[in-house]
Amino acid sequence: MFAKVIIDQDVKALNKIFEYSVPEDLSLQVGMRVFVPFGKRIVQGYVVELGSTCSYDKTKLKSIISALEDFSAIKPEMLQLMRFMAKKNHLTMASTLRLFLPSQMREGKVREIYETFYTLLQHDFQPKKNAQKQIALLKHLKDKGKSSSTELANLFGYSTIKTLFDKGVIARQKERIERKPFVLSRQDKKVQLNAMQKKAIETISGQKVFLLHGVTGSGKTEVYMHLIERELSQGKNALLLVPEISLTPQIMANFKARFGDFVALLHSGLSAGERFDEWKRIFSGQARIVVGARSAVFAPVENLGIIIIDEEHEQSYISESNPRYFTHDIALFRASYNHCPLVLGSATPSVDSYQKVIDGQYQLVQLPTRANGRDLPAIQIVDMIGEIRRGNNGIFSAQLIADLAQVIANKKQAMMFINRRGYSSFMRCRDCGYVAKCSDCDVSLVYHREDNRLKCHYCGKQFKVLTRCPNCKSENIKQGAVGTEQVVAKLKELFPNVKILRMDNDTTSTKNSHQKILEEFKNSLPAILVGTQMIAKGHDFENVTLVGIVDADQSLFQADYRSTERTFQLITQVAGRAGRSKDEGKVVLQTYAPRHYVYKFVSNYDYQGFFKKEANIRQTACFPPFSRIIRLLISDNDENYARELLKMCYTEIEKLKDEYQNQILYLDAMKAPIKKIQNKFRYQILLRTKLDKADEIEEKVFEAANKIVKNNVFLEVNPTNMS
Ligand code: ADP
Ligand code: ZN
Ligand code: ZN
Repeated sequence: MFAKVIIDQDVKALNKIFEYSVPEDLSLQVGMRVFVPFGKRIVQGYVVELGSTCSYDKTKLKSIISALEDFSAIKPEMLQLMRFMAKKNHLTMASTLRLFLPSQMREGKVREIYETFYTLLQHDFQPKKNAQKQIALLKHLKDKGKSSSTELANLFGYSTIKTLFDKGVIARQKERIERKPFVLSRQDKKVQLNAMQKKAIETISGQKVFLLHGVTGSGKTEVYMHLIERELSQGKNALLLVPEISLTPQIMANFKARFGDFVALLHSGLSAGERFDEWKRIFSGQARIVVGARSAVFAPVENLGIIIIDEEHEQSYISESNPRYFTHDIALFRASYNHCPLVLGSATPSVDSYQKVIDGQYQLVQLPTRANGRDLPAIQIVDMIGEIRRGNNGIFSAQLIADLAQVIANKKQAMMFINRRGYSSFMRCRDCGYVAKCSDCDVSLVYHREDNRLKCHYCGKQFKVLTRCPNCKSENIKQGAVGTEQVVAKLKELFPNVKILRMDNDTTSTKNSHQKILEEFKNSLPAILVGTQMIAKGHDFENVTLVGIVDADQSLFQADYRSTERTFQLITQVAGRAGRSKDEGKVVLQTYAPRHYVYKFVSNYDYQGFFKKEANIRQTACFPPFSRIIRLLISDNDENYARELLKMCYTEIEKLKDEYQNQILYLDAMKAPIKKIQNKFRYQILLRTKLDKADEIEEKVFEAANKIVKNNVFLEVNPTNMS
C-alpha cells in the first residue's frame, strides 16, 4: 500500500504531496498523523490519501515510520476544508491543517491528567474511639462512595489516609480526570417564546444562509437555544460562534445551564490542557454543542445540524495575520458540507452581509422589538464643541454628569464606554471638529510618529502634520483621546463613595479576570463600569439604566473605509446594554461631530436607513462590497532586496492592466504605511478591482507573486486595518 502525505512544515517549498510506502504491519487510515523520513530528518505528516498505486519508482520510495495515534485526527470533512481554505486564502496546506488540532497535540505534549481516588474496602472496620480523623474519613467515604486524594488530604490530612491505606481499610486507583473550563453558574431561565421568536425558528431550516437581524435584547440567544435543541432532538450536533472571550462568560453560562455537559467550550482563555480535553470531548462525540470563539469554527464536530455566528458583524471573525481566513467562509463551507442552515445573527449586520440579503444570497429574518416589550433606550447626542464654548473643557458634559448623579441617587448602574480603537491616531480640531482626511479616498489620515507625517492607508499619499485647522484657523488641533484610567480618576473625583470598576486590556490580563469584574459589577449597587470595546457587547445586566459614550468619534475617523459602519455598530451595541429589564434606559453620546449622518441614524435605531446611505457611498467611491481591495505585502531584512522584489512583482501585475482594462480601478506600488516592523522593510502593492472578475484577478496576482517571492506570499483581501 502507498500513502500520500502532507509534511507538517509551513514552508512554501514543501507545500506539496509526498508519497511513501506503508509497512505491512501498520494499519493506516486517511487523516492519521504519521512520522516519516524526510531528507535526513524524521518529521510529522498527515496522510491524505491511501491507494495501491504510486507515481514513483516503488523501490526508491521511503517508508512511513509509524503513526502518532491509532485514529484519524483529521476527519474527512476537514480534509476537504483544508483544500478549500488553502486555495481560497492562498495558504500552505500544513498551516491550514494546524488550525484543526489543539497545539498540545501537534507539539506532541499531550497530557492527560490522572488523579488517585480512594474507596472503602473494609466496610466493618472500627477505628479507635479517639481516632477522630479516621472516623470522619471513613464516614466521608461511606457517604460519597469515592473521593480524590487531594480532597481527602485537605479534609483529613495525608497521615490519616496513609494509616487507613496501610491497614488495607481503603483502596486506591488512578483515574483520568477531565479539565473543565471555568463557567459562571447560572440558573436556566425558562421563557415563553414570543410570536416573533417562534416565527424566526420556523423560518430557519434547510440548507440556506439566514441573516437574523434582531435589535439588542430581542432574545436572539433564546432563538439560538431553541434551534439547537431542535437539531439535538434530531440526533444532530451544533456549532455556535461568539466573538470574544469577554462576551462568552454569559452566553456560555446560559448554555451550560440549559444543556449541561453536552456543551464544550473553546476560547482563548482556556489553558492548553483544558482546550485539549474539550477538543477530545468534541472529537469523541461526547459533547454535541460547541460554543466558542473564532477558531472553534474548526472544531471536529460531525453531523452538524446548524451553525450559528452570533454578532456576525464583529471584526474578530476575521483572522488578519497568518493563517488568514474569514470565519463566515469556513462556516459556509461546513454548512454546505453538512447540508444545514447557517445563521448569522446581529443587531447591526455588516454592510457586506446585508448587501447579500439585497442580492438574494441570504434570507432575512427579523426580530424588530425587545423581548421585554420595552422601547430601546433613548440616545441623546451631546455636542462637545458646544460644551467647550460654554467653558467646559472636561471630558464629561454637564448632561452626562447630571444623569450619572441621577443613576447613583436611584441606586442603579451605569456603563461608561471608552472607544480605544486606533487610540489617538487621527487629528481633530478641538474648536470646530474638523478631521484631516485624504483628498482622494475620503478616509481619515493616520498620524505616524516615526516620520511625523499624516498618511492615507488606502493610496499611500502623505501629508504634513497640521498645526492650524484649515477650516477655522484654530491652532487647537491635536491628536489624542482620553483613556479608561483618566475617566476612572475623574469619576472618583466626582463620586467618591461609589463603586467604580474598570475593564480593559490592562485589568483583564489574568485568567478569569473578565468574569470576576463582571460578577463584582453585577453585585454592586450603585456602580459604574468603565470599559473599552469589552463592555460593548452581549452583557445583560438588569440594573444598568445609563450608558455614557465618552467620545463616540474615536472609531469614526479611522483609516478604514468601514469606520462609519464600525461606529454605527459599536454605538448600537453599547446603547443596547441599557434598560434591558424593568427600568427604562438612556444613552448619552458625546461627539465633536454631532451632524455626522451616522449619529442621526444611530439615535433613531434606523439600521435600514443607515445601510442605504452607507451602501450608496461605498458604491460611489468603489469600495467593498462593490469592489475588492487586494494588498500584496512584501517584506525583507534587506531593503534593497525588498524593493527589488516589489519592482519585479509590480511589473508582472501591471501586465494585468491590459487584460482587465475595465476591471482594475486602482493599482500602485509603494512603501507600507509602517515602513519597518521587526527589522523588516515593508513594501506593498495595492489593487482595487470591480467584482466581475475579482476571483480571476486575485488568483493571477497571487500566481505572479508566487513565482517571484521565495517565502509564503502574503496576500490580503479587503484588509480591515492596513499598517
Ligand atoms: P439579544 O441577544 O437579542 O441581545 P438576549 O437573548 O440577551 O437578547 O435576550 C435579552 C433578554 O430577554 C434576556 O434576559 C432574555 O432572557 C430575555 N428574553 C428572551 N426571550 C424572551 C421572551 N420570549 N420573553 C421574555 N424574556 C425573554
Ligand atoms: Zn477648526
Ligand atoms: Zn488616499
